[in-house]
Amino acid sequence: MPDVFADLVGQDEAVVELRRAAAAAAAVLRAGAPALVAAGPASGAEPGTDDAATGALDPSAGMTHAWIFTGPPGSGRSVAARAFAAALQCVHGTGCGECPGCRTTMGGTHADVRLVVPEGLSIGVNEMRALVLRAASTPSGGRWQVVVIEDADRLTEAAGNALLKAVEEPPPRTVFLLCAPSTHPDDISVTIRSRCRVVPLRQPPAAAVAEVLVRRDGIAPDVAQWAAAAAQGHVGRARRLARDPEARKRREAVLAVPRRLTGVGAAFDAASALIEAAEAEAEASVAEADTSERAALETALGAGGTGRGAAGAIRGAAGQLKELEKRQKSRATRAQRDALDRALVDLAGFYRDALTMALRAPVAPVHTDTATLAGAGAQKWDAEGSLRRLEAVLACRAAIEANVKPRIAVEAMMLALWKG
Ligand SMILES: [Zn+2]
Repeated sequence: MPDVFADLVGQDEAVVELRRAAAAAAAVLRAGAPALVAAGPASGAEPGTDDAATGALDPSAGMTHAWIFTGPPGSGRSVAARAFAAALQCVHGTGCGECPGCRTTMGGTHADVRLVVPEGLSIGVNEMRALVLRAASTPSGGRWQVVVIEDADRLTEAAGNALLKAVEEPPPRTVFLLCAPSTHPDDISVTIRSRCRVVPLRQPPAAAVAEVLVRRDGIAPDVAQWAAAAAQGHVGRARRLARDPEARKRREAVLAVPRRLTGVGAAFDAASALIEAAEAEAEASVAEADTSERAALETALGAGGTGRGAAGAIRGAAGQLKELEKRQKSRATRAQRDALDRALVDLAGFYRDALTMALRAPVAPVHTDTATLAGAGAQKWDAEGSLRRLEAVLACRAAIEANVKPRIAVEAMMLALWKG
């Protein structure tokens, strides 16, 4: 297994910082220091400055107990957080990838690493309280309790408050790693952010994404280059496009939208097709998990039991089943929105291509396979018309993020794309 940071594509600066922090954390353990120095409000924006000044005196400088990884989707926020968690648990160095600490963390089985991956639209307060409580216990492996929260921007307000308490008064051996799109107050509360050190990740260049697809996934170089460009720097999306024919088909259907918009009726048809495709994709992605969860719960509840106490068990079971259904519904909604968002990002790429061509900007197209179509659009719409269409797609994404019903937002977008 290569080094734990190997899959963090195009983020050299962040890797240097995280390695330095892991080395500092290891020094804390060796020195038997009681606790990390908590980051005060407003610290952390300039990694390395304050730390460098005090580093000689305090072995824990360079390391802190709360971190936020920010960056656009696909830049590797959760990859960075998991790799850093492994580096903290590494018994040989700062993420060798070989030792039990690295391997169990990367494999998701380390006893002292907890991973919160929200499946629904939000992370609730009960989940967060339970997590904070467990995170306060002494690490069984003698190193750190690490809590990784993917999509920390989905914390409910109450959950955020529960987390804030823990981040403000951290247990001595606990490290919180949060992932969020940005440090904007919409994504992460100002008070939490002020207690964390921020690791900004950038959108990795297409060449770096293509390189990792070739090296790690064994994908042919020409396919890797096409997929990396089409995925606009999103590593996971690029891999799916390179490997999954269904994902390619869905993308082609989305990119066929612009030439199908020939009238009002066609615009509504295109909206329906886009929504239904997202629903179908989402359903397929969660169906298997839904079925196995329900089966597991029914088995645990002793479905079909006839012995004494079965009636009471059934009464309790109804509540638990209802709870499960609620959770599954929330996850399905999230999956639908994610699928729709991927489609909108592809569509935005098409109009961005038209815009750059209308402006004769010397940049490579996002979608090489529809570059001719985008060129025709550029001729017909000019720069302004292309820009208005690009903005209509971005406005649709923003509206859905702000909880406008997807169908309504997509219909409005299709009409705007048709009318220009
Ligand atoms: Zn290791």
